[in-house]
Amino acid sequence: MYPDTQLFIAGEWTNGSDGETLAVLNPATGGEIGRVAKATTRDMDRVLAAAAKAFEQWRKTTARDRAKLLHAAADNLRARIDDIAPVLTMEQGKPLAEARSELRNADDVIRWFAEEAIRSYGRIIPARTPGVQQMVMKEPIGVVAAFTPWNYPVAQAIRKICAALAAGCTVILKAAEEAPASCAAMVRAFADAGFPDGAINLLYGTPSEISEYLIPHPVIRKVSFTGSTPVGKHLTAVAGAHMKRVTMELGGHAPYIVCADADLSSAVSMLAGHKFHNAGQVCIAPTRVLVEEPVFDTVLEDFVTAAKAVKVGDGLSDGIDMGPMANARRLDAMDRLIGDAVAKGGRLLTGGNRIGNAGFFFEPTVLADVPQDAAIMNEEPFGPVAVVNRFAAVDAAIAEANRLPFGLAAYAFTRSQRHAQRFAEDIETGMLSINDYGLAYAEVPFNGVKDSGYGSEGGPEALETFQTIKFVSQASL
Ligand code: NAD
Repeated sequence: MYPDTQLFIAGEWTNGSDGETLAVLNPATGGEIGRVAKATTRDMDRVLAAAAKAFEQWRKTTARDRAKLLHAAADNLRARIDDIAPVLTMEQGKPLAEARSELRNADDVIRWFAEEAIRSYGRIIPARTPGVQQMVMKEPIGVVAAFTPWNYPVAQAIRKICAALAAGCTVILKAAEEAPASCAAMVRAFADAGFPDGAINLLYGTPSEISEYLIPHPVIRKVSFTGSTPVGKHLTAVAGAHMKRVTMELGGHAPYIVCADADLSSAVSMLAGHKFHNAGQVCIAPTRVLVEEPVFDTVLEDFVTAAKAVKVGDGLSDGIDMGPMANARRLDAMDRLIGDAVAKGGRLLTGGNRIGNAGFFFEPTVLADVPQDAAIMNEEPFGPVAVVNRFAAVDAAIAEANRLPFGLAAYAFTRSQRHAQRFAEDIETGMLSINDYGLAYAEVPFNGVKDSGYGSEGGPEALETFQTIKFVSQASL
């Protein structure tokens, strides 16, 4: 049922050169379900040579031909959604419906970047001298090293791959060892579409060994990473020492501001829907729910009711809203953060415990009135827990939103245009959604500020992160 995963190097599926593999666990049982191949330095040398060679061909491939292949990959992926979704659920834990939706979203992202590839124009600048033509050309930056995490094994990878390939770059993807087979199935959809050998490559192994080897290598021109802020800062430093461009999509700690004049029922239903999606292992998940004093009790009570109604279970079972957490590290983090919050005076309204003895299940959890010095008010929890705190005036909500070094996503609910304008102007964030949850579509920018990183993963801005600018001034003789 669950396939072992190989590396994909220079158009071939292969084991690591020394035959070593790593275990893949099912988070619903904690048991091993398969193995993933582990790359060696020899494998990395092969992949670097293949990606460099393919780049010479791919960069000269017309944008229309690139787009055709991207559409063909999307066709393959779409046709395989029902086969890949259970694999994604088995290795990552999310409910089958969420796995299907992640794959449908990947199909959408591929097609959007295919279309964007053919609209990436340079410009002509009116020259100061007659007979001179001045052009700004956009060129693919080169071979990309992309590192993606386990929370959305397909979706995190697809944004990087599509934007890079659409721009004319070739890609070495180091995807998540903990959830490798769905990502490999997605790469197979590209391989079967007929991309040149080496245009897209897939590695697994020891993340630090692979990044330390690839990033400084002269073949690599761009690094794109999604993961935690400490690792992102480290990889940015390595890249900086070698003058490599980076895109960093790092941690968040999203404020979710609910004003007294808001549509409370939509604010609460969006909160419950998105907080427990993917068991809260989402970088843009709401974490600090800040509620204006007069409606605090109502919002808290309704949210607790919604949290209690979330059905937790094996993602392959029917009627499940939330699966297990993806790995045992997250369970330990939940225990530590919730224990600390309660010890510091926070109120535990529901949840707070592991479920059962097998697998990595945790209860949907709501804390309230948690002091600022609790760890959960400062660290990204990356799990099914939200803190609901109160505020007296909009200024205080904005100050709390901006207190942390993170700035990825923020949400606000209000009927006041004046408040909405204040939030738009004054919240330090890469993405803000007001009275809505309208983030993360292919066509809109997806990016953080401050410690949440830089460089967009959506919209035309994403394509630009894989392009260099060449200015040409030419006098005709
Ligand atoms: P982690 O920081 O060790 O790993 C996060 C990801 O980075 C993993 O996919 C891992 O393989 C990769 N990674 C780690 N060290 C690396 C290195 N030296 N070179 C290249 N890749 C490396 O932490 P974790 O326990 O997997 O997750 C912990 C935290 O990471 C979470 O609490 C969350 O804050 C963050 N995270 C964020 C996202 C996101 O979508 N932004 C996704 C996953 C994890």
